[in-house]
This record gives sequence, structure tokens and C-alpha cells, in this order.
Amino acid sequence: MTDPAVTAGHSAGLVLVAAGLTKSYQQTRVLDAVDLEVPPGTFLVLLGPSGSGKTTLLRCIAGTERLSSGTLHIAGREVAGPRTHVPPERRHLSMVFQDYALWPHLTAAENVAFALRRLPLRGAERRARSLQMLERVGISQMADQYPGRLSGGQQQRVALARALVAESPLLLCDEPLSNLDAHLREQLRVEIATLTRDSGATVVYITHDQQEAFALADQLAVIDRGRILQIGPPEQVYRLPANPFVAQFTGLAGALEAQVVAASGPGRARVRIGGAELEATAIGELQPGEVAQVLLRADALSLGQGGNRALSGVVRDSSFRSGLYDHVVDLAQGSRLTGVRSNARAVRGANVAVLIDPVGCLAFPGSKGLESFHPVRPEAGGLPAGGVDQPSDGAGLLGAPA
Ligand code: ADP
Ligand code: MG
Repeated sequence: MTDPAVTAGHSAGLVLVAAGLTKSYQQTRVLDAVDLEVPPGTFLVLLGPSGSGKTTLLRCIAGTERLSSGTLHIAGREVAGPRTHVPPERRHLSMVFQDYALWPHLTAAENVAFALRRLPLRGAERRARSLQMLERVGISQMADQYPGRLSGGQQQRVALARALVAESPLLLCDEPLSNLDAHLREQLRVEIATLTRDSGATVVYITHDQQEAFALADQLAVIDRGRILQIGPPEQVYRLPANPFVAQFTGLAGALEAQVVAASGPGRARVRIGGAELEATAIGELQPGEVAQVLLRADALSLGQGGNRALSGVVRDSSFRSGLYDHVVDLAQGSRLTGVRSNARAVRGANVAVLIDPVGCLAFPGSKGLESFHPVRPEAGGLPAGGVDQPSDGAGLLGAPA
């Protein structure tokens, strides 16, 4: 599909280029024509539900899986294609996995030094560099311990040191934080961000956790069923999700069916919901009189005074979170909103008005999938209700594009 000459020329200066990357197991297509271009120093996060093909994509890049079709260039060199398959050890990549994958019979320092085995270094120099890297990840005092004596967080720091010490052109991370508890996860996430940026590393990082994805990404790609649905800076993916699935998977507080009243400017529309008329961000073609699906970001919602620009409802629950109050509000027309923030607590059963900022009020044409909507709290780790690490069969998610 892609002219090899064009691809080769085009890949100059890019650390990673995937073109039409497809992977099938028997009859099942797990990756479907994935295109990626990663410039040097970029932290690319691939965000998708469990089973969407993230690990398979990483394994294709690493070379532990062969492509079914398409091409892959790393640092300008074709490493996989119709007639090429460079083995993993000759791709000069570093990887960090979910399960740490340290050698149990080597100490922390020896595990890190292992990554330097192909460099022409003397033993003392290898050890010095390893200790320096362990220092940078904050566990130099554990240098001579075996992995069995280290906690999960410490083991992952060793794995990170091992991945960074070799200064390879590309660092691949497969959900490296998902086995750690919340406090450690946050801490190590910050360190991954700062260490990789300090070193100028190019990173492809996969996760199913949207909070982690937004916190780390320079570029964010949302993947579902082996396809990249959208790729761009995290702000763009958040503010202008390409379709309802992307919006859902990046955090929603509610979904409503609306009627389009009129276009009200570039990328804007007025929509009617019950007796209220709201200003919305229009994504796609919205025709007056037609049905629209309105998806709401939690940070667009606040409690306020009534009027025809607000939605009225009844408070079902309230909770104290991060210094403010989060409310669950059942709207008059039957939908539920979660995470409606306010600096005062509204009591259960109170009649309230919910004000909606047009920026986080996303209107898509049609109404597909609305009935199966589950709210997702952006602060809560970003998974559909009941869907922690569930297979991506689309159940319970808003209609993905055909
Ligand atoms: P993720 O990392 O996003 O959770 P994976 O890449 O592990 O997803 O898996 C994507 C899909 O490919 C899943 O449906 C999985 O069952 C399937 N799959 C992965 N590896 C194999 C394999 N070796 N043989 C057959 N199917 C596989
Ligand atoms: Mg995986």
C-alpha cells in the first residue's frame, strides 16, 4: 500500500515508522493497518482497552512477533517488511514490562549491567554506569540485592534503570505501572516522565489507564480492536475526540440525546435537551432537526442557577473529593451525570441546575450506542464501569465507527 522508496525517504529523522502494519492470528486480525510516525524525543502513549492489540503492536515493534503485512522502520532502517525480519536483539531497543522481568540470579546492579553487555566496556566501567543509573532511579542502596529481596516498586525501578542505561534509540513500555499500588504508581509515573525527558529518549508506552496516558503523553493514540482511532497531542484528543468511542475512553460524566437546533459558528452548534438549549462543540456534520449524541466531560459541569441554559435534575449522591464535592445528578429526562463538581455540597434529593461549558459538551451526529452508556470518571482511572481490563468486545461502550 505504501511505496517503499517513499517510506524510506520519509522515515529519515523519525525514530519509528509503521506503515500499514497488520497482524493476524489464523482468521483473527489483531492489528489492522496501523500507521505511526514517531519523531525523536517523543513520548507516545497508546491507550486502549484490554485486548485491543497494544501488546501485539509492541511485540511487532520489538521483533518478537512477525508482521502479517506492512513495514516497520526504526531509526531509518527497515526492520520488518515483506522480505525483512530483523531479530529482536539486533533492533537495539529497550523494554520495560508489567512483570519486571529481572534475572533472579543477578543482583540489581548486575541486572542493569546486563543491558551493557554488548558495549565494549571494562567491567569496572559497566558497574560504575549501572550504579549511576540505579542512583538516578533512587535505589542505589539496593545495588547488591537480588530481585527476590526487592519490593515490586524497587524491582520496577531496576527494570527502568536497565532500560535507560543502554541509551537505545527507542524505549518500549508495556503497562509498567499496572502491578504497583496507587501511591507507588503515581510516584514512578512521575519518575518515568522526568527520566525519559531528561535523557531525550523516544518512548512508546502502552496502557489501558487514561489518567496515566494523559499524564505521560506528548502524543496520545487511542487504539481499539487493532485500529488507531485517533492520534494527536493529549489536549486535542481530549477536546476534540474523533468519535464517541474515543470520547468515552478518555473520560465522560454523562451522555444525552439531543436535537440539533442550528449551527452557531465554526465547530459550534446549539442543541436542545428537554426544555434547555445548550451551546455545544460540534464534531462532524450536525443538521438542524436531526438527533445528536451529546457527551459531557466532567470538567464541563458545575452546579449553578437555573434558566434555559442549564439542565435540571435531582441530586442522588454527593462525595468529598480533592477539596470539592462531586455530585451524582439524575436529570429530568432520565440520564445520569456523575462527577458534577461544586465547592458546596448539595444534599441528596435537592433539585439543582447543572451548567454546561460548551468546550466539554461534545455533540456527535446520530444516537448510536447511547442506551449502553456507562459513565466514566476521569479521576478514577478511566475504565468503563464494570470494565476493568475486560476484553474489548465493544459491549458497554458507545458505538465505535463502522
Ligand atoms: P492488549 O495488550 O491490548 O490487551 P493483546 O495485543 O495482548 O491486547 O491482544 C490482542 C488480541 O490478540 C486479543 O484478542 C488476544 O487474544 C489476541 N492474541 C494475542 N496474542 C495471540 C496469539 N499468540 N495467538 C492468538 N491470539 C492472540
Ligand atoms: Mg497487553
